[in-house]
Amino acid sequence: MIIAIDGPAGAGKSTVARRVARELGLVFLDTGAMYRAVTWRVLQQGLAPTDEEQCARVAQTTQLSFDENGNILIDGRAGEPHIRSAEVTANVSAVSAHGKVRTAVVREQQAVAERRGGLVAEGRDTTTVVFPRAEHKFFLIATSKERARRRAEELGQPERQAEIQREIEARDHLDSTRAHSPLIRAPDALVIETDAMDAAGVASEILRKVQAKAAVPRASARAQPAEEILTHATFVYRLTRAVMNLWYLPYFRRSCRGQEHLPRTGGVLIAANHQSFLDIPLIAIAAPRHVSFVARRSLARSAPLAYVMRRCGAVLVEPGKADRSALRAIAAHLEAGDCVAIFPEGTRSDDGSLQTFKAGALIAARSAGVPIVPCAIRGTFSAWGKGKSIPRPKRIEIEFCPPIDPAQSNALELTRAAIAAKLSPGAH
Ligand code: C5P
Repeated sequence: MIIAIDGPAGAGKSTVARRVARELGLVFLDTGAMYRAVTWRVLQQGLAPTDEEQCARVAQTTQLSFDENGNILIDGRAGEPHIRSAEVTANVSAVSAHGKVRTAVVREQQAVAERRGGLVAEGRDTTTVVFPRAEHKFFLIATSKERARRRAEELGQPERQAEIQREIEARDHLDSTRAHSPLIRAPDALVIETDAMDAAGVASEILRKVQAKAAVPRASARAQPAEEILTHATFVYRLTRAVMNLWYLPYFRRSCRGQEHLPRTGGVLIAANHQSFLDIPLIAIAAPRHVSFVARRSLARSAPLAYVMRRCGAVLVEPGKADRSALRAIAAHLEAGDCVAIFPEGTRSDDGSLQTFKAGALIAARSAGVPIVPCAIRGTFSAWGKGKSIPRPKRIEIEFCPPIDPAQSNALELTRAAIAAKLSPGAH
C-alpha cells in the first residue's frame, strides 16, 4: 500500500506522514530530506546550486538511504541536522528545480517503494509524479502564516516567524512555478485543511480515510447513512426537468453559456448566486449533466415533495444546527462523483445584489478534492425576486465559468469574484 502525502512547504507533511507510517507499521519516505541531502552535498563540495549538470552528478553519485526511524543517511552517515541548516533551506528549491536532479531522486524514491512493497511518502509531487497510482493520496494545506508559526516553533525561534513566512512564500512561488514537477494537487488527492488541526488530528483523519477505504467497497464507503446517493438523472429527474423546461421557462427569454466549463463526469461543485426560485430549474436545464441540489431537510416534510427530491438526488441538510453533517453529506455526494449545486450566499438576495459567500461549500469541495464551477445568474431577480408574487416575462441568463481549484487559499474569493465579474454591468 502506498500512501502519498503532498502539499506546500511547512504544511505539516513530515510530522503527519511519520505518525501515519508508525501507526500502520509502514516505512516513512521523506522525499524533501532527499533533495536537502543532495543540496547539502552540492554546497559541501562548493558547487553552484544553479548548475544543473553538477547538481545532477551529485544526485546520481550520492547514496541515499533511511534508518529504521525514517531518518536519512547520506552515503551511510546521518544527514540530520546538516540538511536542515539555513543555507540548505535557502538553496534546496534551486537544486530540486533541475529536471536531471529530479529524475535521479524520483527513480530512487520509486526503487525504495518497490523494495519495501509499500510506504508512506511525503513531499510535493509524490501524488502526481512519484506515485501517481498510489492507493491513497492526500494534499495538506495551511496558510503561510500558520506554516511559518509551526516552523518557528519547531526551530524554537518564535521571533523569526515573519522572516520564515517570507521564506515559505518565496519557496511556494518557486515550487509552484518551476518547469519540472511544479507543486500541484492531483485531482484525486483528498485536500485536508490543517490550520485548525494539530499533527495528531491530521494523522487520525488520514488513518480514518485510509481504513474506511480499505475496509469497505468504494460505493458503500461513500454511502450517506440511510440515504441513497444518486449521481445520475433518474426518470423522476428527467420528467421534472422536462416539465420545467416545457412549461415554466419558455415564459422567459433565456440564454445559457459556458457549459463547456462543467466537467461531464466526476465530482464537481456548482456555486451560483441566488436571486430567485427560478435559479434551481434554470441550473438544472442549463447543466449538461444531472445536478443534485442542496436543500433544507424540512422541505422534505411533505411526502410527495420528499419523494421527488430524493429521486432527483437532492442533498438534504439540516442548516445551522448540524453544519458538520451537512458538509459531510455534500462531500459524500461529491466523492461519489456527483455534480452538486449550492448557493453560497445561503439564501435568496433581498435586492438582487451579490451577498457574502459562506465557506461551507468550499470546505466540502476541498475535502472531496473536486473543482468548483462558479455560475452567474442574471435577470431572475427582476423576473421573480423576493417580494414579487407573480413571475414576469424577462430575459434571464446563466453562465458557467472556468473551474477553480478549491485547494487555493483564496478559492472562495476567486469564486465570488468570477460571479461578480459576470454580474457587473457591461460584462455581457
Ligand atoms: O519538505 P521540505 O521542506 O523538507 O522540502 C524541502 C524542499 O525540497 C522543498 O521546498 C522543495 O523545493 C523540495 N522538494 C521537492 N520535491 C519533493 C520534496 C521536496 O522539490 N518531493
